[in-house]
Amino acid sequence: MSDGVYSWRTAPPRPMPRPIQATVSLAAMRHNLSRVRQCAPGRFVWAVVKADGYGHGLANAARGFAAADGLALVEFDRAARLRREGWDGPLLMLEGAFDPDDVEQALRERLALVVHEARQLRWIEAVRAPAALDVFLKFNSGMNRLGFMHDAFREAYARLAGLPAVRRLTLMTHFANADLPGGADEAMRRFAAAAEGLAAPRSLSNSAATLVLPQAHGDSVRPGVMLYGGTPFAARDAHSLGLRPAMTLASRLLAVQTLAAGDAVGYGSIFRAEQPMRIGVVACGYADGYPRHAPNGTPVAVDGVRTVTVGRVAMDMLMVDLDALPHARPGTPVELWGETVPIDEVAQAAGTIGYELMCALAPRVPVRVVDADPA
Ligand SMILES: *Cc1c(COP(=O)(O)O)cnc(C)c1O
Repeated sequence: MSDGVYSWRTAPPRPMPRPIQATVSLAAMRHNLSRVRQCAPGRFVWAVVKADGYGHGLANAARGFAAADGLALVEFDRAARLRREGWDGPLLMLEGAFDPDDVEQALRERLALVVHEARQLRWIEAVRAPAALDVFLKFNSGMNRLGFMHDAFREAYARLAGLPAVRRLTLMTHFANADLPGGADEAMRRFAAAAEGLAAPRSLSNSAATLVLPQAHGDSVRPGVMLYGGTPFAARDAHSLGLRPAMTLASRLLAVQTLAAGDAVGYGSIFRAEQPMRIGVVACGYADGYPRHAPNGTPVAVDGVRTVTVGRVAMDMLMVDLDALPHARPGTPVELWGETVPIDEVAQAAGTIGYELMCALAPRVPVRVVDADPA
């Protein structure tokens, strides 16, 4: 797969519009995939690349996870793009078909389909080609979003297992609380009861279960956020899980201001200096994907030194405390998230999760892709 094909999110030619830039590390992605292999040795690994690879770019994800056994996503247009651009391996559509055309596409492009409700089951029963489809039959283990309950699950299994069109049938579920201690126990019990005696492979684990629930690894695992270097847990950081951030969001100072005691900065004057202080204005705002709800005190690094944001995040700018950085001046580099400031810390400060920040990286931010490990 050539870089040129994947140009919709790669860096434009210089001059760049603004100093902000995201860097996506394929080396970090490969490292995180190797962590999945360590956690779930011998299991088939579906690297989850929905939402354009959790905001890292679909093509970048396909390159970074080239050694995965398959890719899993929800968007049929993106699946078509992966096929066009050379991904020949297995693809799993995690929400299955949205309409009968999707089943046609699945047959043409060899897409495995989740079946989570009766309408999808009927579409598949209409397929005449023999051994044409791999199907993942979804059990509702307590999330109560998608999937069949016990009796309907077993009935759907019987119907699918008898279809000549179905090549391989896998039993799957998705945990609501695998990130909490004991949070998947009840779901595991329900799944085991529903799947009892059914001779089919199993797929249960998201990142949290891949990391801490070996008893849920089944035949294939479906890690997402951990592959991008984010933690699925509220109380365990990504570094301690052996993960490396795949995305760095960096920019530069546009200006430095000196505030007198009592001066405020930014819209709404939500930050006021208690004593004279220097602040920096960073070329990054909510239109770049930085969370507007990040409060005063959200971590950020200036010239590699951790400090905090001050004032309300605006569309194109946010402000930082420069008291610990007497040498900072316009042009000084800023890391919004990455190696020095974990994305999960920024997310936590802003009342969300790393997943959302990754996915929200805005199209206007140029993305540079680095392949090798940093020296
Ligand atoms: C998104 C998704 C995953 C991956 O979840 P993470 O928490 O990012 O690991 C796994 N399975 C299904 C069905 C999903 O939709």
